[in-house]
Amino acid sequence: MRSDTVTLPTSEMREAMAMAAVGDDVFGEDPTVNRLEEEGAALAGKEAAIFLPSGTMGNLVAVLSHTSRGDAVLLDADSHIFYYEAGGASLAGGVQLWPVSGLHRRETVKKIKDAVRPPNIHFAPARLLCLENTHNRMGGTIMHPGEQENAYDNGKELGLGIHLDGARIFNAAAALGCPVTAFTKRCDSVMFCLSKGLGAPAGSLLAGTASFVDRARQNRKLLGGGMRQSGILAAAGLLALEHRHALVEDHRRARELATGLSALAGLSVDPFPPPTNMVIVYTSETGLTPGEFCSLLENNNIKAIPFGETCVRMVTHRDIDDNDLKQVLHTIETIIKNPNS
Ligand SMILES: *Cc1c(COP(=O)(O)O)cnc(C)c1O
Repeated sequence: MRSDTVTLPTSEMREAMAMAAVGDDVFGEDPTVNRLEEEGAALAGKEAAIFLPSGTMGNLVAVLSHTSRGDAVLLDADSHIFYYEAGGASLAGGVQLWPVSGLHRRETVKKIKDAVRPPNIHFAPARLLCLENTHNRMGGTIMHPGEQENAYDNGKELGLGIHLDGARIFNAAAALGCPVTAFTKRCDSVMFCLSKGLGAPAGSLLAGTASFVDRARQNRKLLGGGMRQSGILAAAGLLALEHRHALVEDHRRARELATGLSALAGLSVDPFPPPTNMVIVYTSETGLTPGEFCSLLENNNIKAIPFGETCVRMVTHRDIDDNDLKQVLHTIETIIKNPNS
């Protein structure tokens, strides 16, 4: 339950991968990749999309395709792009990442307005705003479509391009019962991962206008992300997209897990109920640090990760069923009651 990235390809996926029609995708000749890119673009409501090896590369290619060297990119200080992507945008793109704390928490529009400074020779010109939905470090929280459009509109008015890191945008859509376009209609580009809750072994899509995706193809190539017979991966990606409606089951299990954990002495869950598939558990009242809690779980073959100083993250996904969940809750109850056993 460390992450939804641990999901294994289904036997149906492995079969589709073995049988996939393939070609050289760097020449645009892989029919399975082409189909995946078309389906991804249609789901996001964009003209075109490009298949990439990872979400990290998708975000980096997006930044490269929106900006020039010396531009500033506004983003949340807790965003994946700022926090977990090895500073790639600064390294490869020569941009100044401008982290705004709590950008997704409240007063998003005001924070955007405050962060964009008027033209001045001292300032790197702000060109791009990146938002994230669902928000990883905030425990899979959803930014609602209205709120998000408001941020887009204000960002655009200030002359910013808008990129959405939608690694888990299908979780947001499933949770609210709305199409993904509710979140993506008005952004310039969106990246989403096929390899997390959707279950593909690898791969992400980046969608936008046709001319944006043309630039993205060049940037993917320069980063070494042009793959050859990648239809083998895209075949799994196509099946992964079909799994999107089933994400509601992961969300139901996350709520059940949260309810079960909250009932145990010393554990609390926040946000409660969990908005999507992540459960953030605070352990300090049990006398166990997150690290100790996780290693006791690990002794029982359950994986979770410390998430900061005070909490642990547990993620539900398609390879965790109701029985697994029961067993996890039972094990945690035993551990809490007798941590030294
Ligand atoms: C996982 C994740 C990414 C990066 O995806 P990888 O395929 O792991 O490189 C980007 N953004 C967010 C919000 C993520 O959770």
